[in-house]
Amino acid sequence: MLRKLLTQTSSRRLLFSGVPPLFSKSTISPFSSLSSSPEPPSSESPAVEHPGTTISIDRSSLYTPPDHSHESTPDSELVKHLKSIIKFRGGPISVAEYMEEVLTNPKAGFYMNRDVFGAQGDFITSPEVSQMFGEMIGVWTVCLWEQMGRPERVNLVELGPGRGTLMADLLRGTSKFKNFTESLHIHLVECSPALQNLQHQNLKCTDESSSEKKAVSSLAGTPVHWHATLQEVPSGVPTLIIAHEFYDALPVHQFQKSTRGWCEKMVDVGEDSKFRFVLSPQPTPAALYLMKRCTWATPEEREKMEHVEISPKSMDLTQEMAKRIGSDGGGALIIDYGMNAIISDSLQAIRKHKFVNILDDPGSADLSAYVDFPSIKHSAEEASENVSVHGPMTQSQFLGSLGINFRVDALLQNCNDEQAESLRAGYWQLVGDGEAPFWEGPNEQTPIGMGTRYLAMSIVNKNQGIPAPFQ
Ligand code: SAH
Repeated sequence: MLRKLLTQTSSRRLLFSGVPPLFSKSTISPFSSLSSSPEPPSSESPAVEHPGTTISIDRSSLYTPPDHSHESTPDSELVKHLKSIIKFRGGPISVAEYMEEVLTNPKAGFYMNRDVFGAQGDFITSPEVSQMFGEMIGVWTVCLWEQMGRPERVNLVELGPGRGTLMADLLRGTSKFKNFTESLHIHLVECSPALQNLQHQNLKCTDESSSEKKAVSSLAGTPVHWHATLQEVPSGVPTLIIAHEFYDALPVHQFQKSTRGWCEKMVDVGEDSKFRFVLSPQPTPAALYLMKRCTWATPEEREKMEHVEISPKSMDLTQEMAKRIGSDGGGALIIDYGMNAIISDSLQAIRKHKFVNILDDPGSADLSAYVDFPSIKHSAEEASENVSVHGPMTQSQFLGSLGINFRVDALLQNCNDEQAESLRAGYWQLVGDGEAPFWEGPNEQTPIGMGTRYLAMSIVNKNQGIPAPFQ
């Protein structure tokens, strides 16, 4: 069956696809990006140097609201909103709160009002690079559905579907497996009304009831529902969850070791009315609570670190996923750029395919952080005894083991020269960067790929055994 999935050559998307030569978020190490981020320290703010960045420490700012009377350029709605939070709180906000507002503020958050992907947007993701990505995720879901005993009804949940491209390619790629597609109820967890509309369009949906956010995708005749959070997705049904480049958008707290213990990096407004980073004068409640909760890092590891990034939203989301999978059956696939280690200092901002200052014109650039895969594993195992966690493995290993080399060969049989070039470039962008032992690459230098920087991890109900290709 796997062979049938991989070798079917019909692919309507191929006819329209092109691979834009764009960079993904992982193109440059995030550890180099912070050097351009912080504001220079002001005269009354002693600076602490550490590799790649400077953080100004301003204890007084916690108690003295800054003077806002000298703005030179008009502030955007989001900047005004952030400044008012800081003003009325009487002090700086956490990096996590800043990140959440910048990305998902209902009025002006980065994701909320427009299409941010592709050549005209700010960054490129794997489903936009090549149709093969969504198709391979389709292979993964069909394999797990088989392991689940081919249930007649399955909730297929995607967290943060972007343009809906991955889901559209998954449905096209699996359309010949009627028993599978007929079992599906698709649930898209998406906070952005603009992207919900785009998903509706790309899944070729016809509305059943617009008030209930329910439609039918004509790609496979499957019902599609939209939700703002995973909690809203109905439970009690076997569930498959896909989270591609979702975790990296979840807010992170940043902590820095000091003589006073683990203090928190915060965002404040300086005398010049611009945003700047400051360090809390003593450990914040988040620092005390989260550093204690961070038990997946050994005390020795923590001892060595000067900076730590922790995402409690990611831990909570994982617990919710694991509880569902533990009680309803099924599994989750998480693919994101990150590390199989605790993360020190990775937050970065990207606008129009370039890294920019995190504090500059918030809402106009994406903010994302490396995903801490050990924390996901730990959170899942803590939440349910009925789940097992597999991986992470590199995206290159994941796609290679699922058979992307057979898929590219099958597609190459049935396309013109331009499409072949686009397919090959897409293939190398997905699996390139070190580990692509499955297919002979081009002679010239291969493009920088997402193959090793992106990792795949799976959480499954123990009844399902080990999911492909983690065996
Ligand atoms: N998975 C897609 C898009 C990744 S970008 C792809 O690979 O192309 C992140 C996506 O998650 C966007 O669709 C964004 O609107 C959504 N998103 C970000 N934060 C969210 C949140 N807190 N709740 C729901 N959706 C969110």
